[in-house]
Amino acid sequence: MDQKESDSVVLYGGEPTLRNDLPDIVNAARGEGYRRIKLLTNGRAFSNTHYLQQVMNAGCSLFEITLWGSNPNLHEYLSSAAGSFRETINGIENVSGVPHDKFVCLRIPICKENLSDLENIVIMALNLGTNRIILSMQDPALSFQAVLPHIINSINISIFNRVWILTEGLPFCLMQGLEQHISEIFSGWETLYERMYQHHKQCTECVYKELCPGTEVRYVKQFGDREFSPVRAGKCFQDIKVLYD
Ligand code: SF4
Repeated sequence: MDQKESDSVVLYGGEPTLRNDLPDIVNAARGEGYRRIKLLTNGRAFSNTHYLQQVMNAGCSLFEITLWGSNPNLHEYLSSAAGSFRETINGIENVSGVPHDKFVCLRIPICKENLSDLENIVIMALNLGTNRIILSMQDPALSFQAVLPHIINSINISIFNRVWILTEGLPFCLMQGLEQHISEIFSGWETLYERMYQHHKQCTECVYKELCPGTEVRYVKQFGDREFSPVRAGKCFQDIKVLYD
């Protein structure tokens, strides 16, 4: 459980839906005055509509559900859980179909095993009625050069379908023209998902160096800093700076 703002709280694990008392915890959070209660989950438990209703009745209406692949083999291989794909998809369908106010975000962790499936996963997420998609760099063995074409395709697909899509773990210099899709502008660079960043020599002349913490340490160790070039006059820089300020 992590307090993000005075009236917001995030419940995460492990897997929070494994706790039998999750509705009680949500209820207690409401009693403490939290109004925005967000649950990070694999979504499997919500294949049971009765359980979903209990959690929503207790006061949770923000869901972030992880989807690893667009087919059972890939999703279950990467989530290490046989039979999980159908449950997760049913769970997402159930949450999306509830006729109450709710917000459903699908998190797609990007790794070398699912990279070529990324656009398919995004299309599946759109078909499931998601309100937002997060594409999260997850694999230290994957270069930005390999990932970016799939990220750009995915963003375009999502824009075409008018669904909000964000990236996680990609710096401004690689996202020029797509800066508004960088999630860290809105959520900050410190997330629940462990990442350690460092500036490198390309950062010294970059206009973003005060806003951007650089690149993940493990990434620079693996690939060096040659992919990055300083942004000298970003068109969006002033707008983004205002958001930060
Ligand atoms: S500060 Fe460094 S990593 Fe960040 S956008 Fe600039 S060059 Fe890229």
